[in-house]
Amino acid sequence: MSNPRYRNGYRRREVQAYYRSRKSDCYICGRPIDYTLRPPHPWSFVVDETVAIANGGRVCKANSGPAHRWCNAVKGTHTLAWARAEVKRRLSGGKPSVAMKPSDFEAVDW
Ligand SMILES: [Zn+2]
Repeated sequence: MSNPRYRNGYRRREVQAYYRSRKSDCYICGRPIDYTLRPPHPWSFVVDETVAIANGGRVCKANSGPAHRWCNAVKGTHTLAWARAEVKRRLSGGKPSVAMKPSDFEAVDW
């Protein structure tokens, strides 16, 4: 098996199962994750790659954390430190730098 996409899919499922079994809190906003929510719900669970794959990150526990879909989307390819500050700002009612609210996700086709 030399297809990296396949390998990543396998790894990703392993990492997902790990966080799911631990019922870990979101490592970006620090709030609990409801693991029963399904995508595309903005507060459903996703595995975030700490260093984005696009930036050379790898799919493994050391480079990932449990996150809300919304928090993951805010982070994008930014650093974890940036995302934590940005999510905190947005959740506290700060003016978002990009127009994005949880309700915006309902129209998005994931
Ligand atoms: Zn979160």
